[in-house]
Amino acid sequence: MILRVDALWTGDRFTGPTLIALDGERLVVTSGEDAASAAHAASTAHAASTAHAASTAHVASTAHAASADPGASAPPVADILSLGGTLFPSLTDHHTHLSLSDPTALFRGGITDAVDLGWVPSVAATWLVDVRDRPAIAIAGALLTAPGGYPVSAGWAPPGAAREIGGPREAGEAVRQQVMMGASRIKVALNSDAGETVDNATLSAIVEESHAVGLPVVAHVQGAGQTARAVHAGVDQLAHAPFTERLDDALVAEAAGAGMTWISTLDIHGWGAPTAGFRIAIDNLRRFAEHGGRVLYGTDLGNGDLTVGVNARELTAIRQAGLDGPDLVRTIAGASTPAHIGPRVAWIPSPPPADSAHLPAWLATARGLHAADLATIDSATIALAAEATTAAAAATAAAAAAKTDLATPAPTPIASAPVRQEHP
Ligand SMILES: [Zn+2]
Repeated sequence: MILRVDALWTGDRFTGPTLIALDGERLVVTSGEDAASAAHAASTAHAASTAHAASTAHVASTAHAASADPGASAPPVADILSLGGTLFPSLTDHHTHLSLSDPTALFRGGITDAVDLGWVPSVAATWLVDVRDRPAIAIAGALLTAPGGYPVSAGWAPPGAAREIGGPREAGEAVRQQVMMGASRIKVALNSDAGETVDNATLSAIVEESHAVGLPVVAHVQGAGQTARAVHAGVDQLAHAPFTERLDDALVAEAAGAGMTWISTLDIHGWGAPTAGFRIAIDNLRRFAEHGGRVLYGTDLGNGDLTVGVNARELTAIRQAGLDGPDLVRTIAGASTPAHIGPRVAWIPSPPPADSAHLPAWLATARGLHAADLATIDSATIALAAEATTAAAAATAAAAAAKTDLATPAPTPIASAPVRQEHP
């Protein structure tokens, strides 16, 4: 089976229209609008799959032979499904608390990969089992903190979600406990607004022990001077764009220069009614990005009234911080193209909007699927996608025509009325 989509996210831009070969649970991207190479990729993929090798050997060898003759190798039209829309190898929420949300709804809402940044390790470990209708999940395990420190007495954190560390010598054991429960990153809480924090020697020990086992360290920073402590200790990632103080440029530049990544979580500062913390976080994040720092989309899902799925308000806020176009898409869709895509993918039934101001709302129409499901999407959905494609083309034409008139609102690229049109 070969699928044709309008656009594919490659890590730095959208390409398309593109043909993609479906092989069981995986997709193999071919080079552009080339049915012969798609057929070749499909047969190669099948031949490589031991489960299907025997039954498809004849088909594969036929396709291989045919592909030597470009004129004769195009597959029958019936084998190409004109799916349309836009395909993403992944859409990731880098900061979630899945016990406080609904992972199934999250996947349905377009998130293929979710990182749980802090919960009771024995509970979080159970999410590492691959469940079809959920995102692929990575976990941090418990938050490492000072005795009595945040989030030991936080209302949201059940007993065990925080691991208290009395000094540097306890750091190794605490890190190893999270590793044994399946943690792929170590989280440390540096929240001086809510109690004691680990001292610098303990923080350094946590970073050393984590790096020694190959895991990055994520810090929750809150309160005066906590970002500086994290940067100077070699922490790899911030769980939130710093929101309690304006950081000076030298510190922001140092964080970016060190290769740190910052997870956005801007929408939690007011959930649509921006607070002082929202403005501080946007200002810090903007300067971090300007210095070349890498920003990652994350919502802190489970913290207040957040969309379960791709959150348009979070993306709008990241855009306010100056990341637009491919820079904005990269925060959620990743910066590289895997050789094989799947089993989870995200799909939007329309091509990318002509006006990047529409990217947040458009991305929020993503749905999480398994690659194999793409071949069985019902015809009504494909008809809607075709309609959206037509509408987007009209929007692009209208935008081009009205280019000098900025007051003219661009038509929405996403069809809302279920009016059927003939498939072109
Ligand atoms: Zn959180």
